[in-house]
Amino acid sequence: MDQRRNVYFYETRRKNVSEKVTELKKLAERYDFTVVDRSDQANIIVSVGGDGTFLQAVRKSGFREDCLYVGISIFNDLNMYCDFHASDTESLIELMSKAELEVRRYPVLQISVDQNAVFHCLNEFSIKSSIIKTMEMDVYIDDLHFEMFRGDGMIIATPTGSTAYNKSVNGAVVDPLLPCMQVSELASLNNKRYRTLGSSFILSGDRTLTLKMLKGSNNYPIMGLDNEAMSIQHIEEIKISLSEKRIKTVKLKDNSFWHKVKRSFL
Ligand code: NAP
Ligand code: MN
Repeated sequence: MDQRRNVYFYETRRKNVSEKVTELKKLAERYDFTVVDRSDQANIIVSVGGDGTFLQAVRKSGFREDCLYVGISIFNDLNMYCDFHASDTESLIELMSKAELEVRRYPVLQISVDQNAVFHCLNEFSIKSSIIKTMEMDVYIDDLHFEMFRGDGMIIATPTGSTAYNKSVNGAVVDPLLPCMQVSELASLNNKRYRTLGSSFILSGDRTLTLKMLKGSNNYPIMGLDNEAMSIQHIEEIKISLSEKRIKTVKLKDNSFWHKVKRSFL
């Protein structure tokens, strides 16, 4: 690794990990890294836990583009965002001693709500009815009114998020080298009055998806930014597009996204 040697550790809230994290910090210091206690002082942000912890590490540190994120898995090795395992000291030492690192850049979603608040997502943006009633919204692709959706909700996933929530609603797994977003439905109503595409669709990173809540309809959606709930009520319009931002993570050799997909699911 080069001159950027300030490292911040973000650890899972699960129990009995502090000993392991202390060990990792000591190891980093032995290799001339400075462990800092605020993420904004760091050039390297290390998440210790699972994928959920990695998502939180990125969110809590503000989706920084000027630092490297490193995912260290602590429980199992079936993690999409973790290239390293806490007990694999050999790989960690190799990582810390290297001058040149392989870096991957992951696309991120940008969500704007009623033309002001802007949020980011690494896995997906989800919108669901929070009451036992369907929700209705008009769906636009750029300026085109595409469909009127009525159902439980929708998931808009990044390529890396395609193996998460998106996959469990039969969406396709997408190569993160493709800057795009995938739109999937949650239990849409389809009859002579309401019609939606019915399958997931993948939009180019140059497009914008707009969701307009239908006036007078169920105005109690619950929204999710990865693993965090967003609490804004009475929303009229949500615009979703690909951000200019990319999240940089350190890559282990011979460990492409597809190696991980194979390892996790096959
Ligand atoms: P969680 O409910 O604790 O766990 C969800 C599971 O998905 C965990 O095993 C998690 O890994 C894993 N995961 C997270 N991101 C992934 C990805 N990109 N590819 C493959 N697996 C992934 O929630 P969490 O750990 O905080 O993760 C949040 C994510 O859960 C959300 O972004 C959403 O994608 C997903 N989710 C899925 C469903 C579903 O499949 N029905 C429903 C709600 C949310 P770790 O255990 O290592 O953290
Ligand atoms: Mn989790």
